[in-house]
Amino acid sequence: DDLEKNLQLTLYQLAAEQTWHLPVERLTLYHLRSNTPCSCAARDEARLEEARHLVLEVAQNITDGKFLATENQYCPCDFAEYCPYYRQKVTPLEEVDILRGMAVDEAVEHYVSLQSQIKELESQLDEIKQMIISFCQAEGLNRVYGREHAITYRLMDKTGFSEDEVRGLLEPEGLWQRVLSLDQSRLKQLITDEAIAKDVGPECTRVWTVEYHSFSSVSYRQLVEMTKDGIAGAVVQGNHFFRLNGSSARVNPHVTG
Ligand code: SF4
Repeated sequence: DDLEKNLQLTLYQLAAEQTWHLPVERLTLYHLRSNTPCSCAARDEARLEEARHLVLEVAQNITDGKFLATENQYCPCDFAEYCPYYRQKVTPLEEVDILRGMAVDEAVEHYVSLQSQIKELESQLDEIKQMIISFCQAEGLNRVYGREHAITYRLMDKTGFSEDEVRGLLEPEGLWQRVLSLDQSRLKQLITDEAIAKDVGPECTRVWTVEYHSFSSVSYRQLVEMTKDGIAGAVVQGNHFFRLNGSSARVNPHVTG
């Protein structure tokens, strides 16, 4: 089957017929280590035409510079100096000043180092975010203030089933498999199914609301702009709001109630 699909053999047949003007009767590959011949019938005209078409297409793409390199287990090959993946490694390029005076290896290392700093900062950010959320929850606050910035915290309602709770309800009834990985639309169908125990359906509906955390930070200046535009009113909730002090940009937190 592999021999039938082998493009190399098809190309050899094309080359032989074109060069020697003789029809090819059989195609044979030799396994050199064991000197074993593996033969098959010659390709028909349709297969040869297909191969001709492929050769012309690849040649045209190379001419047009559209021959994309595809990395594989044999990389780097003997043509690494022409390959976009390896060319810069095997043949150092002439300096081109698009890196604003920075050597390319320096730029690469700098980029990777920045990426790892971002990762580290994201982890710190997450940690401090959790601390602030805990503080807001413990103190019953929706907003906390720094020297120049404020952070608004509020619990949002998100519609959807809570997977853990629904699983707890369905598993004892042997129904969990029917909504495995919690397909929300299938769960809705199941609740209306006659097969479901009478009290499980209403219980699933009860856990329809899921809580998640919304967390946003803005500078005082942005808060002033948002308030002017009437946007802040949309984020300030409950009895917590901002009072602007006259024309100055100072924000004065004021809690009513
Ligand atoms: S080194 Fe480049 S050209 Fe050579 S096989 Fe790999 S990707 Fe293709």
